[in-house]
Amino acid sequence: MSKKLGPVYQALFDRFGPQHWWPGDSPWEIAVGAILTQQVAWKNVEKAIGALKEKRLLGIDEMIGADAGTIKELIRTVGFYNQKTARLLDFALYVKNHYGNIEKMLDGETLKVRGELLSLKGIGRETADSILLYAGRHPIFVIDAYTRRFAGCIGIDPEQDYDDLRAVFESGLERNPQLFNEYHALIVRLGKEHCRTKPLCEGCPVFPFRK
Ligand code: SF4
Repeated sequence: MSKKLGPVYQALFDRFGPQHWWPGDSPWEIAVGAILTQQVAWKNVEKAIGALKEKRLLGIDEMIGADAGTIKELIRTVGFYNQKTARLLDFALYVKNHYGNIEKMLDGETLKVRGELLSLKGIGRETADSILLYAGRHPIFVIDAYTRRFAGCIGIDPEQDYDDLRAVFESGLERNPQLFNEYHALIVRLGKEHCRTKPLCEGCPVFPFRK
């Protein structure tokens, strides 16, 4: 357990303020965004979601009823759009057939829902946890490249297995989904402004907490 996690959170929050994550008007829209954002910048996902909305094909029923070719065209900006169209449609069908809607699915026990998400093709741990945390408000910490870089800076092994690193964050903080939400969003903000591939340590709010 890292004792630094609480104080570093405060330093990040003091610097950047609330991040209002995850952008999306509904749990379904957040889940769609989490699937589309794999390996692509968020601005491209925004364009794809905007295009789906404009054609009224973002809803789960509308998506299932649509022609796959139409969905592909609308999400072209996200790259791997053939694969992502298939993933989205598989996911939509799974949710519809088993639960009727995503809210019901996300009402389940955290690890059970996580197991189901991970059993679906193309949904890995980061995507599953993003859906659980941001769409379902489950107390689960999202690990991504930004989180690993940040962890390494404050003395947490960044190379450890995804779930081990997740456990470090979850055990070092109050188990509160709103806190996990804000913390991860702040880490992403940090990653964009300071902790890039080539870190800009000068003026970084985490600098005083380096290992
Ligand atoms: S930018 Fe530098 S000080 Fe800031 S978190 Fe990254 S490595 Fe640490």
